[in-house]
Amino acid sequence: VAKSAGHGLYRFYDASLNASAARGLELLQRFRSAIKADEFCLHYQLKMNLQTFRIEGMEALIRWQHPEHGLIFPNEFISLAEENELIVPLGYWIIGAACRQLADWRRRGLPLYPVAINVSARQLRDERLPLIVRDELQRHGLTPELLEIEVTESCFIDDVELARQVLQSLCQLGLRVALDDYGTGYAGLSHIKALPVYALKIDRSFIRDIRNDNSDAMIVASTVSLARNLGLKVIAEGVESKEQLMHLKVIGCDQVQGFYLQRPAVAEQLEPMLRKGSFDIS
Ligand code: C2E
Ligand code: MG
Ligand code: MG
Ligand code: MG
Repeated sequence: VAKSAGHGLYRFYDASLNASAARGLELLQRFRSAIKADEFCLHYQLKMNLQTFRIEGMEALIRWQHPEHGLIFPNEFISLAEENELIVPLGYWIIGAACRQLADWRRRGLPLYPVAINVSARQLRDERLPLIVRDELQRHGLTPELLEIEVTESCFIDDVELARQVLQSLCQLGLRVALDDYGTGYAGLSHIKALPVYALKIDRSFIRDIRNDNSDAMIVASTVSLARNLGLKVIAEGVESKEQLMHLKVIGCDQVQGFYLQRPAVAEQLEPMLRKGSFDIS
């Protein structure tokens, strides 16, 4: 558009857009065709039970395999997609892709674990979401316990009622919902009470210095006991060392995820671990 308006205007745009905004615009222009062309892919990160060291599930994390820019991480395109309503079609692609993966594992005889999908605020304001989830599960002959939803507290800043209803419908289908990045949002306690969540995922910013920073250690320990008292599970994300893992085990955290156990990876790379079913932690 700018180009056809003449050389002067083109130069104006060129100068006023900084590099990252220009790249954002470029990504945006390609977005819909990228969905159709299957340029997006899911990586998976396992969740381990901290008492048994057994695998109990995994989280699907989106990546964009861009033909020119290589692998692009969600921090570069999820908020762009949210601002431009593209998160809705992308979200449907993600649900379909996770279900296809589960169906493929089942067909090939691998043990199945629930796959958690991250869902944005905008997706929770889409009344079609539960129906689409139900249809995808049916299409692949999957039971609803095989999908979980991760939402952040920012999903409930506005239009709480609609978001709550959509979550409620997902729960009625049989999916479980976890509250992601717990501790980074605003006053979460009233939401925990009002929402159908089964688990709190403690944000990795509290885990990073858990061994050295006393207030982080206190926040995490308090969250574990809060969750326990409310009958919720606690998951710690971003566990990068054995010391962090053992600390979390001692204070009674239920599940962990993190680079110490496994970096997010494509499905095939996970398969030996899925077959084994547990981690060796000495
Ligand atoms: P999240 O849901 O809190 O996901 C955890 C992020 O921490 C992931 O980053 C993961 O790769 C990273 N991570 C896991 N373990 C460790 C660790 O031990 N150390 C460190 N430093 N990082 C770790 P990723 O994949 O870049 O995703 C970032 C965020 O993008 C996610 O945060 C989530 O909010 C969003 N996102 C990812 N996939 C999707 C998706 O399919 N849909 C939507 N709506 N959002 C997504
Ligand atoms: Mg998550
Ligand atoms: Mg998180
Ligand atoms: Mg996060």
